[in-house]
Amino acid sequence: MADFDVPELKEGLDTPEIPPVHIGVTKHSQPFVAKAEFQQPLGFPGELVDNWEQVAIDKMGELLSKYRSFRVYLDSCVKCGACTDKCHYYLGTTDANNMPVGRQDLLRKVYRRYFTFAGKYFPKLVGAVDLTQEVLDEWYSYFHQCSQCRRCSVYCPYGIDTAEISMAAREIMDSVGKGQKYCNEIIGKVFKIGNNLGLPEPALADTLEGIEEDVEDDTGVKVRYPLDEKGAEVLLVTPSADFFAEPHVDGLIGYGKVFHEAGISWTLSSHASEAANFGMFIGSYENMRKVALRIREAALDLGVKRIVFGECGHAWRVAYSFLNTLAGPFDFLDPRYPVPQHICEVTWDLIQRGALTLDKSANDDMVVTYHDSCNVARASRMGDKPGGQFEIPRNIIKAVCNHFYDMPPETIYEGTFCCGGGGGLLTDDLMEIRVKGALPRMQALKQVVEEHGVTHMAAICAICKSQFTKVIPYYGFRMDQIVSLHQLVSNAIVLGAKQ
Ligand code: SF4
Ligand code: SF4
Repeated sequence: MADFDVPELKEGLDTPEIPPVHIGVTKHSQPFVAKAEFQQPLGFPGELVDNWEQVAIDKMGELLSKYRSFRVYLDSCVKCGACTDKCHYYLGTTDANNMPVGRQDLLRKVYRRYFTFAGKYFPKLVGAVDLTQEVLDEWYSYFHQCSQCRRCSVYCPYGIDTAEISMAAREIMDSVGKGQKYCNEIIGKVFKIGNNLGLPEPALADTLEGIEEDVEDDTGVKVRYPLDEKGAEVLLVTPSADFFAEPHVDGLIGYGKVFHEAGISWTLSSHASEAANFGMFIGSYENMRKVALRIREAALDLGVKRIVFGECGHAWRVAYSFLNTLAGPFDFLDPRYPVPQHICEVTWDLIQRGALTLDKSANDDMVVTYHDSCNVARASRMGDKPGGQFEIPRNIIKAVCNHFYDMPPETIYEGTFCCGGGGGLLTDDLMEIRVKGALPRMQALKQVVEEHGVTHMAAICAICKSQFTKVIPYYGFRMDQIVSLHQLVSNAIVLGAKQ
């Protein structure tokens, strides 16, 4: 099945054993390099520029002066080792360059050479190195073996966030013409068409019409899935995977049923038909801003009062943490609601107010566990209390399912393990890293399957759902064991009960 070794799941373990250390065993794993046609629309050189070493150092200098955190992270590591076994890619690959500190050092040793006194004059003493083609190659490998999940930063006594170092490295590589095809091609599609999939407006309208027909056939109720409807109260911005792929589309069906039952008018937008914002993965503020501005434009054009985000982990991070800065102010929206809102906040609020009738027994064929997505868990919140991002999704699941069990404590909440496909790695050219990086989550899943008979794992992130459906067969599970959280809501909601 695979042309690489798939790690073995062990009996009776919560997380994988700490593996022996190897150096360079996954250096060969690199994503396809973006061609000029994908680089230039984003404002990057089409191919590696002649004087790339100087351009890269200049870019690093620019980032050091722009982002204080970048310099602090490079200066403050004391090599305590607390992060070494915290990265899922290290646990899955055994490569020392996938230890967070090892990954940081790939960039830190160049930083020292060009930006510190000791590195300029006594490079060997402080492990400083010149930026060479070999170093650039290592950067291209290992900064695309980091899903920017931020787990390492939770355990670092100094809070050093390797995700930010990876973003900076990718920004530097883009600036010299060595960008990653998968991310940059996708950002280009959003600029041109409005979503990651390149799904044009007529195809989107057809898809939504088909969903309406299917839901009516299934339930006998005409639930609407509207597009570009001016004057709707809510603009729903959701990952484009929700428009067709399993299990994502079952989540979209659930959002529609929630709005229908609550009597909230809503619409999707063909201009902002994508919640994902891959500008964050490549560390590009300008591209992230351009993607985010489409949401503002759509909200103004449609005259909505609220913006709600569907199930997408990094989209929620960009929305929750940066949307107001990137595309605000949103003073034209209804001030009674947060800007933006997560669909889980909307659903949980309606459940608490008794606005939805739920039949939990509709999910009795499942024993469910829940995967906290990294960008929701460690980079955002939900609701008005700390920890809402952990409690609200679980509260919803418990309100719609009779059988729920959490995975081992060190693998959930802020300690959650990445699915292995986040941060712009969800591409087939990185399948080895994706499968190996999923090891810790698979080990934890195995434990609740054995102890509690768990049959399904729910998630609220399009990348997690896509990654898991693809990689869990490598570990002996079935693709359909992954479900959208709003798929569970969709199953349990009793349509028409409140009318
Ligand atoms: S951010 Fe996540 S993927 Fe990157 S080094 Fe840290 S733990 Fe590993
Ligand atoms: S935990 Fe922090 S200070 Fe310690 S080695 Fe890792 S990055 Fe450096």
